[in-house]
Parts: sequence; C-alpha cells; structure tokens
Amino acid sequence: MHSTESPAHQRPSTRPGDILAQVFGYPAFRGAQTEIVDHVIADGDALVLMPTGGGKSLCYQVPAIARHRAGKGVAIVVSPLIALMHDQVGALEEAGVHAAYLNSSLSSEDAQRIEREMMGGRLVLLYAAPERLTTPRFLAQLDSLHERGLLSLFAIDEAHCVSQWGHDFREDYLALNVLHERFAGVPRIALTATADDLTRADIITRLQLEEARVFISSFDRPNIRYSVVEKDNPRQQLLRFINEEHDGDAGIVYCQSRKKVDETAAWLSAEGVTALAYHAGLDADVRRRHQDRFLREEGLVMVATIAFGMGIDKPDVRFVAHLDLPKNIESYYQETGRGGRDGLPADAWMTYGLADVVNQRRMIDDSPAGEEFKRGQVQKLEALLALAESHDCRRVRLLAYFGEPTLACAKYQNACDNCLNPPATWDATDAARKALSCIYRFHQNGGQRFGAGHLIDVLRGKLTDKVTQHRHSSLSTYGIGADTSETQWRAVLRQLIALGHLRTEGEYNTLELSASAREVLRGEVQLLLREASEVTAAPRRGRAGSSSSTLASTSRGKTSTKDKAPPVPLDADATALFADLKAWRAEVAREHNLPAYVVFHDATLAEMARAQPDSLDALGAISGVGAKKLEAYGREILRVLGG
Ligand code: ADP
Repeated sequence: MHSTESPAHQRPSTRPGDILAQVFGYPAFRGAQTEIVDHVIADGDALVLMPTGGGKSLCYQVPAIARHRAGKGVAIVVSPLIALMHDQVGALEEAGVHAAYLNSSLSSEDAQRIEREMMGGRLVLLYAAPERLTTPRFLAQLDSLHERGLLSLFAIDEAHCVSQWGHDFREDYLALNVLHERFAGVPRIALTATADDLTRADIITRLQLEEARVFISSFDRPNIRYSVVEKDNPRQQLLRFINEEHDGDAGIVYCQSRKKVDETAAWLSAEGVTALAYHAGLDADVRRRHQDRFLREEGLVMVATIAFGMGIDKPDVRFVAHLDLPKNIESYYQETGRGGRDGLPADAWMTYGLADVVNQRRMIDDSPAGEEFKRGQVQKLEALLALAESHDCRRVRLLAYFGEPTLACAKYQNACDNCLNPPATWDATDAARKALSCIYRFHQNGGQRFGAGHLIDVLRGKLTDKVTQHRHSSLSTYGIGADTSETQWRAVLRQLIALGHLRTEGEYNTLELSASAREVLRGEVQLLLREASEVTAAPRRGRAGSSSSTLASTSRGKTSTKDKAPPVPLDADATALFADLKAWRAEVAREHNLPAYVVFHDATLAEMARAQPDSLDALGAISGVGAKKLEAYGREILRVLGG
C-alpha cells in the first residue's frame, strides 16, 4: 500500500476540482456531481439517484479525499459486493489514494494491519460489507474514530439493497439505520441506480435519510442504442448480432433460466464466441473465476441470469443482450445500463416473442404473492411490453416511464432502432376484431378455451385434426384471416396481450378476452401496430459511433481481440500505437493483479495514441491521467509512444 499525500509544508488541495484533476485526471465534473460533492464536503447527507455509469463513485470518493486532506480521517464505504472490493480498492490505490477493504477473504494478519491503518486515521477509504460494519467489534472501533474526529463520512453504495421492492434486498442493510444515531454529525451519502418511487421512499425511511438532500440525475444514457427484434430462432439472431456488430467485444447476455444460460454459453462457445456462464446454481468458485475472467480478459461474453451484474463496473461492456424478456422496465434499464459505462457507443439488444409475453404473465399468475402485488407486477409488465411493441422512439418511452421528458434520438450519437429505421405500421383494427371474435365464438361453441396456435389455424382456415375434432371449420370466423401470415397473426396476438385486450390463462396458455376487448370488438379502438418484420438483425447504425465504422476497422470477419478496433477513429499509425499501449497495459495489469481498465480506460489510451504527447506535461493533460499514474507510468508511456 502506498500513499502520495504530500509533506505537510505543501498541503494538498482540498478543492474538489483540484482533486478531480490531480487524482483522477478528469477535467470536469459531470452533471450533478459538483453539487453532490460540495454538499457532502459541507457535512450534508445525500441520497444520490444516478443511472448506472453516471459516475456515482466520484460522488463519495472526492469528498472522502477532501475530508481526509482536511484531517477528518477515514470514509467508510458500505458495499454488498465482497467479490468486487479488491478491484475497487485497486483502482483507488492506482490513483494514489490510500484505500483498503475488510472482508472474510483476508488473512487475520492483513485484517489487523488494515485495522491499524484505519484506527490511525491514515486510510482515506475503507470498504466493508454491511454484515461486518454492524458487528459490535467494528462499531466499537468506529466509536473510537468518531470520538477522535477521524470518521469522515459513510457512503452506502447500492442503497436499494435496503428495500424489499427490488430483487437485490439484503437483510444486513436494514441494520445500517444505526449509523444515523450512533455517529451524529458524520455525513452519509446513499447511492443507487434504482429510480422508482417505492424504492426511493424505502431507502429514505429505512436509512433514516429524511433530512438528506435528494439528487436525482437524468436517467438518460445517450451512448446506448436500444433495439428490440422479433424472436425468430433467437440463438441464431444473437450469434448474427454478435458477429456482425460486436465481434471481439465484451458483452452480457441475459437469459431467464439457469439451464438456458448453460446451454447458450456452450452453444456460443461452439460457434467460436468466447462465452462463460454465470448463475446462482454454479459453484461459488466457478462464479468467482468466471467473473474474474470477464473483468480481466478482453472480449468475453458473459451469459447470465440476473444474478450477475450488480456492482460490475467494467467500463467497456459493448452490448447487453436479452434473450428473454426482463421482469419490468426497471430491470431492463438497470441491466442494459451495464453497457457503455465509458461513454462510448454500446448496444442494448433484445429478442422478444409471443411466448415471452405468455411466460411472464404465467409467472406472475402462478406466484404465491397477494392479488394487489400481482396487479402491480402486471402493470409493470404491460409497460415493458408497450416499450417492446412501440413504433416510436424507445428512448422517449423509457425516460417517460421514469418521469423524464426527452427529445427523440435525433440529438444522440446512438439512436434507437425505431429512430434509425422507422418501422412500417398497419391498421390492425380489423384483424384484431377477427381474432377477438373468433375467441368469442370458441366460448359460445362449448365454452372451451384455446391457445394461440389453434386460434391462428382457425383464422387462417387450416384443417388440422384439432379443427376437425372441435368442428371449428363450421365457425363463421373459420378462414376469415387467410390473407394474413402466421407471423403477422402472432404479432397481432402479442400486441393484443401487450395492450391488455387479451389475457392468457392456465397451464396451456389459453386465450381469454379482457374487459377492454369489447371496445375493440365494437370498433371503438383503433389499433395501429408495427408490421411483423422478417428482418431479424439489429438495424445498422447510420452515423458515427459504430466500432465497424472506424477507419482502422478493415474486415468484418473474425478478428482476434488483439487487433480489435480502437474505440474512436484513429489513423493507421495511431492504431498501431493504440495496440502497443494496450499490450503495455496488459503487462502492468497482470503484475498488479487488476483488470486492465483499472490501469487506464481504452478511451484514455486511444487519446494518447491520437494526441501522441511528447512530454510528461502534455501526457498529464489527457483525460484519465492523474498525478500518481503520470508519476508511475508517464515515462514508460512516452517510451511506448516514442517507439
Ligand atoms: P456508476 O457507479 O454510477 O455506475 P462509475 O462511478 O463507475 O458509475 O462511473 C462510470 C465511469 O465514468 C467510470 O469509468 C468513471 O471513471 C467515469 N467518470 C465518472 N465521472 C467522471 C467525470 N467527471 N469525468 C470523466 N469520467 C468520469
């Protein structure tokens, strides 16, 4: 462990802007960061709601450094993610900030050494899991620090874990309410990327943050392109998407079940994509190893259930794909938000079909939860379906869901699929009436209910065994939809379910009219639906931002990770330098047992390769190069650049 704190005669600056520039090498705060940092430095409590990738860490790290420099001791960071603490602390130490973590993975000598550092007030930040923080022994140590004025602040990361509304609930977080009373006067900053009102209210009451100032940032992620494609051989669609758009990129593929995760990872690997599986059914060791490889190696695809992702701060995840429908828009947003933290273009891509809608509905129906809870879940699902079915700007819809008005994608570097390629729509009012009245006839004709497959057969006038058995060829609706393709019918049904005019029921997913179906039958509702497309790949980007549009990218064939195109357009000379810098970075990362991005982000290396600074001063001016890194690596980098 090392610290770069200067001797007393030149006390380092406590000004946030100076700390940002010197320690992190960034020229300016982003959005609300300035206000948050000032507020916490001035003893204020804060609740920070910022999207994933928004820059939450600096909101407590800069105040921790400022307060430490002002003689106020150590900041305690509560984080639920033991497996990630090593890298979080490593990133701070790389930047010259004396940090450590305490968790069960440490030897007792190491733990004791760190406790001594903490009790002496030398540490700037200490990361700990909530279960450790609230042990009597640890609380007593904090008491001692507090009495001596050496407890600078509490940062409660992933604060939504305190709420039972999300799927990340942690019992241990509830005990954090002791902080408020026991350590009066020590500012607390709680941070989360979960935006909904219920969770926010829960965080405030359970952590006793009633007096805290609430900072809600824009939830917009301008560098993410959203696209949804109709499911039609989803694995092949995924493979094509990866090969055509993200060859050699790091990405996450979400599936609903563990079995599907295993199968998809194995299949992708067989198809030449380096893919690993992650779900709660895997051995803890295997999980850790896979997570580690994902963080440390380049261009790995992680196929996972929702068990994977919280706290993963890998900045260069270039795509997040969903092979199954997420639970609701909150989950979708959080999961897709793990792409493009470095601000460079990333894709949020999803395949979705009738079966997804039916499955999700059934999972809600079958759950043991109370009726009110289920109704809430259904509403959330319907909002997600409306997003998937929309033919207008997905970004506008997403942000509207979080109560944030925005302009359509026109102003963005990375537009959604609908803005890039506006989908054809058709007036499906008549078709919908045909389908609904056919279901109505089923009911009249013996009261039996049927699923989508049979309904489409009847509408299209197919004489199947089932049609004969139930004498459905004698219904007036038999064959009235012969001019509409099966794919198109599926789309109509999916959208009728999405809009709540149809419901599916029971084990066989039979179709049932909802109360609102009557309005459609009477012709009171006009249905403008997106045309079912046979095109399955994500739309190509029309503008800058695609990795495939960079000058250095030559072929779309298989490229090895080594010659993966740089994140910004570079000429041939700079591209070669970028590759050299990456090779140098890989060495350093290996030596320090840290992921490469902790040493420098791709974007920082690309800027070095482009600008080709020839002095330490010029190198230090590049975003992402702080004083410590300049001192530790500056000469070597100049040597790499100078060839
Ligand atoms: P979050 O925790 O909100 O998901 P992080 O704190 O991991 O986000 O920040 C996301 C990325 O943005 C990080 O790579 C971080 O270095 C970078 N970042 C944050 N704030 C700034 C800033 N003011 N200037 C430049 N980069 C920033």
